[in-house]
Amino acid sequence: MRLLIMGPPGAGKGTVAEIIVREYQIPHISTGDMFRAAMKEGTPLGKQAKEYIDKGLLVPDEVTNGIVRERLQQSDCQKGFLLDGYPRTVQQAISLDAMLQDLGMKLDAVFNMACGEELLIKRITGRRVCKDCGAIYNVIFNPTKVEGVCDRCGGEVIQRKDDNLETVHNRLAVYEQQTKPLLDYYQGKGNLYNLNGEHDAVVVFEEIKSILGGLK
Ligand code: ADP
Ligand code: ADP
Ligand code: ZN
Repeated sequence: MRLLIMGPPGAGKGTVAEIIVREYQIPHISTGDMFRAAMKEGTPLGKQAKEYIDKGLLVPDEVTNGIVRERLQQSDCQKGFLLDGYPRTVQQAISLDAMLQDLGMKLDAVFNMACGEELLIKRITGRRVCKDCGAIYNVIFNPTKVEGVCDRCGGEVIQRKDDNLETVHNRLAVYEQQTKPLLDYYQGKGNLYNLNGEHDAVVVFEEIKSILGGLK
């Protein structure tokens, strides 16, 4: 199963992705998570990415394409994968096509999660994440049982630096300008499926399951 999940920031990609990778036992390839891991380690990649991420801008295509190319070559991707938050520009999509072609692979499905802007902003500003295991929470929609403590691993639950109101507006504008045109790209290939990201994540997952069940 080779899958791609798209949508604006806050649409619920990461939340549904957690369910998909658990149910289908495939690696979760999130460029956002990869950048945050590099930032935490303070690597040169992390330092470079931070300049863009903190401002709500996209990390340059050649950098992003490079980390995905390396990741897809790892052996665990042979059994399939879920790409989350990549590609985000038409140039990245073209680059991904070339990578997949080199590896003799094809995407089985592209999912697009739609969500209204007001709700996106509520979700992003209320998002909290576990520093240790990456679990995603929300102060309104999915709070931890104990404030600031991860239900899953007991780690510290924090707010991402880029999840502030000012950066969010930039990220939404970047999505409209640079990422939304990709929907036409995948629509043209005939494997794009639209999902309502405002629904409960479990409901969205059930829909994904039924679409995938009908593919073969
Ligand atoms: P969200 O899920 O809220 O959209 P992500 O965790 O996917 O956030 O991404 C966080 C930030 O990392 C983005 O705002 C962007 O700066 C950077 N980033 C993630 N994926 C990409 C990508 N494919 N291309 C360029 N920048 C990216
Ligand atoms: P994305 O990866 O698209 O940026 P996330 O999965 O990180 O989105 O979700 C953004 C925020 O919205 C998080 O705080 C998450 O807990 C919350 N959230 C995600 N999906 C839903 C949903 N279906 N209903 C309510 N809240 C949700
Ligand atoms: Zn945790």
